[in-house]
Amino acid sequence: MSRTVYVNGDFLPEEDARISVFDRGFLFADGVYEVSTVLEGRLIDNEAHLIRLQRSLDELKMGCPVTKDELVELQKELIRRNNLVEGGLYLQVTRGAADREFGFPRDAKPSLVMFTQVKNLINSPVAEKGLKVISVPDIRWQRRDIKSVGLLAPALAKQAAVDAGADDAWMYEDGFVTEGSSNNAYIITKAGVIVTRHLGNEILHGITRRSVLALAAENNITIEERPFTLEEAADAAEAFVTSATTFVTAVVSLDGKQIGSGKPGPLANRLRQLYIEQALKS
Ligand code: PMP
Repeated sequence: MSRTVYVNGDFLPEEDARISVFDRGFLFADGVYEVSTVLEGRLIDNEAHLIRLQRSLDELKMGCPVTKDELVELQKELIRRNNLVEGGLYLQVTRGAADREFGFPRDAKPSLVMFTQVKNLINSPVAEKGLKVISVPDIRWQRRDIKSVGLLAPALAKQAAVDAGADDAWMYEDGFVTEGSSNNAYIITKAGVIVTRHLGNEILHGITRRSVLALAAENNITIEERPFTLEEAADAAEAFVTSATTFVTAVVSLDGKQIGSGKPGPLANRLRQLYIEQALKS
């Protein structure tokens, strides 16, 4: 059975859903998105995702065709219609359709599209094994804090990883790791300190990052929010990534060199457990 997707006011079978060829999301990547986790049929951390959505929209002076409360109702309806128990809900707002001009059109109506994806998030085989990552130069634009649909650079990074027989890529700039292709990046030093890049325009302000750092602080784990180098990462006791759909997932090698024991480390595993327990309780 096909999925039901939401497109500009209608719930439709995915094969019937249509967007204009003039949509600026298609022509200019002039749009923003969010991915919220769904566990046991419920949205996790959704309020924070919608706050970040509004921030991305504001930064790009873009409107949204529905209010926040309406958006939540539409998200819940889409989950219901697809009987989604575990997976992700993708939502995208673009500036809408207008004849092709670089400047913003005066009267385009923003587009809203949503779809669901079924995924095994809690019992993920990838999380059990840990990720092999390669490093690639970060060639993205300078406003990575905006969750823009312009994702060609991370797609190239991820494909370079796959071509190299790895699972994902960590991007670096001036010798320092910025983040993963679609996640925030962390190392744990031999002294047991979590190090992750500080917030700024250079990285996406991950919703999972915020929750996991709060859990780490509650559990008296020391956190340093600062840039770290690839050399520090190669020499770390453990490493991991966070994102809405991977939670906390250990990184077990970097550029072919094993990190720590070469298996998901105890602290990464503990943080994953703590995060899942909290999500299921929420
Ligand atoms: N950084 C980048 C570049 C991402 O694409 C994502 C996932 N959207 C993240 C970090 C993690 O963000 P979140 O925890 O909100 O999913």
